[in-house]
Amino acid sequence: MKAMVLKRIISLENCATPLEKADLPKPAPGSGEILIKVSVCGVCHTELDEIEGRVAPRQLPMVLGHQAVGRVEARGPEADGFSLGERVGVAWIHSACGQCGHCLAGNENLCADFRATGRDANGGYAEYMTVQAAFAYAIPAVFADAEAAPLLCAGAIGHRSLRLARIEDGQNLGLTGFGASARLVLKMARHRFPKVKTFVFARNAEERGFALELGAVWAGAPEEFSPARLDCIIDTTPVWTSVVEALKNLRPGGRLVINAIRKEDADKDALLRLDYPSHLWMEKEIKSVANVSRADVSEFLALAAGIPLRPEVDEFDLEDANRALVELKTRRVRGAKVLRIG
Ligand SMILES: [Zn+2]
Ligand SMILES: [Zn+2]
Repeated sequence: MKAMVLKRIISLENCATPLEKADLPKPAPGSGEILIKVSVCGVCHTELDEIEGRVAPRQLPMVLGHQAVGRVEARGPEADGFSLGERVGVAWIHSACGQCGHCLAGNENLCADFRATGRDANGGYAEYMTVQAAFAYAIPAVFADAEAAPLLCAGAIGHRSLRLARIEDGQNLGLTGFGASARLVLKMARHRFPKVKTFVFARNAEERGFALELGAVWAGAPEEFSPARLDCIIDTTPVWTSVVEALKNLRPGGRLVINAIRKEDADKDALLRLDYPSHLWMEKEIKSVANVSRADVSEFLALAAGIPLRPEVDEFDLEDANRALVELKTRRVRGAKVLRIG
């Protein structure tokens, strides 16, 4: 089968083609697993973290990609829940131990032994992949394959972020960074909480314009003071500056939810500007969002189908995965990037 594989950890600044075309054996589904013929796979910022070593794969070579949509081609022994030909999606969590306290509480996203799709097990930048049937999701009929892919990661984690932010209708929501996840959060927040006002902080003028088009009441640069104090802010940037700058805009008792798997080190000195009275005093909270649980993905797919929430997507051929990754790194904005495979 055709695949794009990562063979070595490297910075995209030094290498614009980190993934190599490969012909790999078609995987066989093991016990409890399904074999999926992949149709599309979303391109996520986490792939940049994997390639550049901040979230390095456990072994190399590795097929990246954790927002895969395809059809069930075969079932291993004891793989229940899906019929042959059924459309399914695979998200970041490829498996978890199933026995620890976190798993038993439905928080397999916090399991110490969870394995990530495209990091610890081959993912969706390939014609075929396998996953435990219990970690695959039926895709609501309302979505085209390419529309569903970004919902599996950016959308589901946006849903978890909104939940952890504990936003209530009528409050002020801040978004720092305006990539695929933040755009879905804005659309979802407007639908679920019609009286919430959203304030967007983005470095890029085009992104700020896009935020206003999508219904933000204000959009400004990350350093700016928002015109009103914010009840909660969701940060989806890879940098530290946005964290420090966001805190000054929180109201007393407000919370900052950081939705980023890793922060880059380039602007780490921004943390030295942290000023206790203006950034943290008055019971301001900071919390991170780690991965997504299966319940987050299922709940979010159902919510998104009910709206329906359709992400804008830019499609690339599988062979053009490197170009999609470089564009993601250099922040050329607009749609969520999706690789077309099948
Ligand atoms: Zn992702
Ligand atoms: Zn566990």
